This record gives sequence, structure tokens and C-alpha cells, in this order.
Amino acid sequence: MHIRLHAWSIVLLAALGSVPPTDARRPERTTEDSWGVRLLGTRVETLSKVNMGMPARDGSLRTRHVTTRRLSGAAIELHADLETAAKLDAQAPDFAPELDTALQWLQRMRPPGQPRARIILTLVDTRHRTTWRRSHPVARATIVDVLVAVPDAPTPLSVGVGKALSTALHEMRHALSARGGGARRPSRRDDEYQASLVESCYLVSTMRTGDTLRLTPRERAGMHEYFVSAQSRNAAHDAVRDLVRASGTPIVRWYDGTARAGLERACANALPTLPATQADTAVPHAAGSRQGRTGARHRSRAPRSPPPPLGRPGA
Ligand SMILES: [Zn+2]
Repeated sequence: MHIRLHAWSIVLLAALGSVPPTDARRPERTTEDSWGVRLLGTRVETLSKVNMGMPARDGSLRTRHVTTRRLSGAAIELHADLETAAKLDAQAPDFAPELDTALQWLQRMRPPGQPRARIILTLVDTRHRTTWRRSHPVARATIVDVLVAVPDAPTPLSVGVGKALSTALHEMRHALSARGGGARRPSRRDDEYQASLVESCYLVSTMRTGDTLRLTPRERAGMHEYFVSAQSRNAAHDAVRDLVRASGTPIVRWYDGTARAGLERACANALPTLPATQADTAVPHAAGSRQGRTGARHRSRAPRSPPPPLGRPGA
């Protein structure tokens, strides 16, 4: 079985320090989000499980297309539930840098000779649990069709979109290596290590004024953990540990040039074919929408427990 795990090993704080806000309208989520991809014959299947501690939705999830970006050999389609889509429409310029950078990464990730790489990313709010299983034929494109929940406030939307894109890129890394096949296919450990680096280094490359990147290595696997998930967990841990070594600190603030230079070097060395960092574009997140808010824009998720294996409906 080809199980791929995804680690929320990294947390982006989109504001200078402060205390995480509490949102009394929303109970804490009790379980963690998980994603996975696998190659099933001539199709790639993506499984997303988000907001699993939350109540089910009344009726089916209604989504609509928000925008599509294309480069030669790569495309990103953004969809969202109706409420989130309205916010995305209103704030499109705010997250455009994240989207454009992700598209460049996607284009550069695609190995020569492989068909187009396409991300279909659906964003939903954090209020309802959703299991999203999508499968696409691989003949003409490698399609990762992933669903990610984004907090509505007080995080700037661009942070949520960036994190969601980093998740999609992580899963695309797995999908591309899965279809590479044969000798070109990395070991599970190397695959997870690389995917974790892609996720983290993409976030490094999209840091903006005011951002803080928190590098939190995932806990290493326990003694009795299933070997497949243990291997992935340890690889994800190692990837983030290596980035902490490179930056010299687990908390990298946007103005810390030394730490950022260390991270950028490590990412460029580990992922030489991917775009160089965009550096600090001096574009703060949603400058307008940040004003007048008090409190933090803390984004935080607990370390993941191993996600359920793919291919077991209802697991
Ligand atoms: Zn993974």
C-alpha cells in the first residue's frame, strides 16, 4: 500500500508576537487534518480529511471556482465553499503572490518528460468535518485534488491560502514521485523528507514583512508505531530539524536576515531545481485589512497524529 502522510510541521504566524485569540463561537477542533495521495493503476487519488472533530454539514458541500492560474506545464485551480469564495474574490490581490509563487514551484517540480502538473485546491471553512476523496486519470496530467480548511479570522487570508498551497505542493511532490516509477522513485523516507522540504521551503519563499515562521519538528515516531507511518513521521521530523539547524532558530522572524539566509541556502541546496526564494517582497499581508484589528494572527496546529491509511472507506 502506498501511504503518504502529510505533516503540519510548520506554522506561520502572520504578525509580530502576541497572544493567540480565542474564538468563542467555535469549539476547538479535537482531531487533526490529514491528506494523502496514491497512484491507483492509471489514476491518482487524493484523500483529504479536515475538521474531523467538528459536526457534519447540513446537506452537501457546495463549492465554486474562484480562479485558475497557468504556466507552461502547470496549473492551479482554486475553488472554495461559497462563503470562503466570496472572501477570496474580495481579497484576490492579497494572496496573488502566494498563488503565483506556488505556480512557479509546481512548474519546476514537474520532472522533464512527465505530463502537466495540476493542483485543484478547494478551500473550506473550519466549521464542518469533510472527507474529500478525488481521483483523476494520469494519462494527460498529474492532478492533486486537495481540500484544505482555512480559518476565517483573524488570520490574513493570504496566510491561510499560502499554507493550503504548501499542503497541495507537499502532496504533489508525492504524486510526481509515485508516477516516476522504477529506479527514479525515491524511498518512502526520502519521499517524505523531500515533500516536507517542499512544503516548508515554499513557505520560506513566500515570507513577507510581518511574518514569523515557526519551525516545529514533528515528534519522532514511538516504539510501537506502524512502520509505514513511523518512517514518514521521522522523515518529516528530520526535514524540519535540518531547517532549524540551517536557520539557527525555530522561530524565524521576517527581519532576521541571518536566519532567513540560512534557510534560503538550505532550501536551495536541498531543492536545487526549485525557484529561488522570492525574498521579502516587502508586501505585507493585507495591509488594509490588518488595521484596526487587535490581538494576534496566530496560526497554530498541534503536531499531527498519523492520518488514516488511504483506501479504507470510513477509516
Ligand atoms: Zn507527505
